[in-house]
Amino acid sequence: MAGVYIHIPFCASRCIYCDFFSSTDSSWRGRYVDAVCREWTMRRHELEGEPVETLYFGGGTPSTLMPAEREQLFQALAEGIDWKACREVTYEANPDDVTPEFIASLKDTPVNRLSMGVQSFSDADLSFLHRRHTSRAAVEAVERCFAAGYDNLSIDLIYGLPGQTIEGWRANLRQALALGVPHISAYNLIYEEGTALWSMRERGLVKECDEELSLQMFDELIDRLAAAGYEHYETSNFARDGRYARHNTSYWKGTPYLGLGAAAHSYDGRTRRFNPASLSEYIGAIQTGRVAYAEERESADSLYNERILTSLRTCWGLDLSRLRADFGEARAQYCLEQAQPHIRAGRLALDDGILRITRAGLFTSDDVMSDLFWVD
Ligand code: SF4
Repeated sequence: MAGVYIHIPFCASRCIYCDFFSSTDSSWRGRYVDAVCREWTMRRHELEGEPVETLYFGGGTPSTLMPAEREQLFQALAEGIDWKACREVTYEANPDDVTPEFIASLKDTPVNRLSMGVQSFSDADLSFLHRRHTSRAAVEAVERCFAAGYDNLSIDLIYGLPGQTIEGWRANLRQALALGVPHISAYNLIYEEGTALWSMRERGLVKECDEELSLQMFDELIDRLAAAGYEHYETSNFARDGRYARHNTSYWKGTPYLGLGAAAHSYDGRTRRFNPASLSEYIGAIQTGRVAYAEERESADSLYNERILTSLRTCWGLDLSRLRADFGEARAQYCLEQAQPHIRAGRLALDDGILRITRAGLFTSDDVMSDLFWVD
């Protein structure tokens, strides 16, 4: 089984915290869609005949594409993807793009899951983050999706905003739960170098949320969502009724995927490929029949470290017998020895050969995982 990711690097405006590759210049869109279709034809053999089980349109803002552009992409992808075997087709959308016309235009496509960048239900937060939509627009967008039968719906939220209070975060969670979406992703606000938010902090215009308050918000998130029946299946992801994000879950489980478009990454189990984060470079290469990716062959050490990182982020944990089979006795022993102090301190639990981060270990999970890394 394999996954396909398609990057749509266009946004109507830039949010202050975002470091994803995207452009506000929509004049590239037509040439870009042509290039992605051509890249699929040129590269689909890299999947080595594996059936495509998940397809994900991320961005940027995929919902900025015109219906005809979406149609062109799906027609190209149909050469190689059997829609009946493709279990999950996710399309990211900004709430203000989710109009009745947008939903209607999805009806004849294989899209069966929508992921919406809500980020907050507070208009003050949304305006601070330079999001285009209002809280009301987000609520209406979710309701519109449900009414149209798109019940496999995910929303993204951000916490730890400057000036955000625990009460403000609780109000966000109450609203998210009231909507009844089956999947919620929630991330602590990160200050990425090169973003407007980063320079605002450098200039003393914003003050980072206190770490203790951020942890309290994370705690609140886990408790409230657990009480509402959501499974905390990955550090930042919660699902009800088994509605996991299959595509992202396959990343965490090491399934091969092909990434199409500017700045997209691919992984075949041995090698990572990185498309250029430049519209002109990406389109220029494809137009001349070349694929312009950079390649990095994974060493055994980096594959081992990746396994630690991705497995321990999930509720399925790290299977030590698989680790032993894939990386040898020495590394499995090393992992177990490094884990011991954390097991004694209650940050890791070992059950039936599966190592998992405990609730107590979640708050320091980066430190726990880095202690298990193999460093020469
Ligand atoms: S957060 Fe999303 S909508 Fe905002 S600039 Fe980044 S990719 Fe675009």
